Amino acid sequence: MIAGALAPDNLLEEKPTMTYIINDDCTKCGDCVDECPVECITEGEDKMVIDPDECIDCGTCEEVCPVDAPKAED
Ligand code: SF4
Ligand code: SF4
Repeated sequence: MIAGALAPDNLLEEKPTMTYIINDDCTKCGDCVDECPVECITEGEDKMVIDPDECIDCGTCEEVCPVDAPKAED
């Protein structure tokens, strides 16, 4: 019927589109950097920056941030 259009291989190769983004409220306190399980948060010029290719969307940074700067984005 559907000739392989939705094969599991194709689905697995798709990257999840949602990731976390740190907004301008970030004070660079560093709490999220210490807590991120995949260490994908690095220091940017004005705020911390999340590498979207490494982030596993665990939400830990959002939980530990005192100013609620990390936000889930799609
Ligand atoms: S959501 Fe999790 S993996 Fe992604 S940046 Fe935050 S702590 Fe790291
Ligand atoms: S915990 Fe929040 S304020 Fe602190 S560095 Fe991370 S995003 Fe910035």
